[in-house]
Amino acid sequence: MPELATTELALSEAIAVARQKHSKVAFVPTMGALHDGHLKLVEVAKNHAEFVVVSIFVNPTQFGENEDFTRYPRTLDADLEKLDGIADLVFAPSVETIYPNGQAITQHAGPVGNTFEGEARPGHFDGMLTVVARLFELVEPDFAVFGEKDAQQLFLVNKLIEGKFPNIQLVPVETQREPSGLAMSSRNRFLNAEQTDIAEILAITLASVDHLIRDGKNPIDALEIGREIIQGEPETKLEYLELVDLDTFTPVKSNHSGDALLIVAAIVGSVRLIDNHHIKL
Ligand code: AMP
Repeated sequence: MPELATTELALSEAIAVARQKHSKVAFVPTMGALHDGHLKLVEVAKNHAEFVVVSIFVNPTQFGENEDFTRYPRTLDADLEKLDGIADLVFAPSVETIYPNGQAITQHAGPVGNTFEGEARPGHFDGMLTVVARLFELVEPDFAVFGEKDAQQLFLVNKLIEGKFPNIQLVPVETQREPSGLAMSSRNRFLNAEQTDIAEILAITLASVDHLIRDGKNPIDALEIGREIIQGEPETKLEYLELVDLDTFTPVKSNHSGDALLIVAAIVGSVRLIDNHHIKL
């Protein structure tokens, strides 16, 4: 089993020992309920640094009042087993350890924090950045490993690092998928078998829009076709399907050329799912 630290003191002692050995430190923040997507991040972390810290913390400040904070899966024992032999230290703090003076928001995501995921989940990105900044201050890693699955989060964490943590190198990891194409997510466990089949439509639609654009379809028309595909699915509510500029995370202009990101969010049953796909325009 990896070493488990639950307090700030235990964390800093373990990291001090690693630093004495001149180990580089790579950090993988998670909310637990680990799946193979998370484990890929840990594997990539190990390729960058001798000492890998994984945090497991379901962060209350990134959940809205009507969201699934209490329902979010908490599976620490199973997570520790999965991390056996691949992580060096697991940091699983209490809410009080992370927020000793109450759950004040210290980081603000700005305008990008209010669009797409931020529009559906007001305050989500301020809470996410607040906990990421706090964890960065505690762990002081050389590398921070994040998944491309959460594209808007990755965009905002990149800005946070550029602005406030210049000594940390961000390492993005491509989205890990089930054989069906469904992006792995801790929330997939809330889909029943039928909904799991339906949820494949997100990845299928991303690929279809990509094909349409490669075949010369106007991106705006291709997006409209993609939206119709998802809206035609039972038990599914499309929230957005959009093409965004990688530099600004805002919808691409009609004359955009080069790379763009196709992003999607939909609710299947009662589970909110997101996915994305790189597109060349
Ligand atoms: P979470 O526990 O959902 O907060 O995710 C922790 C980290 O794992 C984040 O950097 C996510 O982007 C990343 N992650 C979650 N699912 C996947 C996936 N399917 N592929 C790659 N990274 C992922």
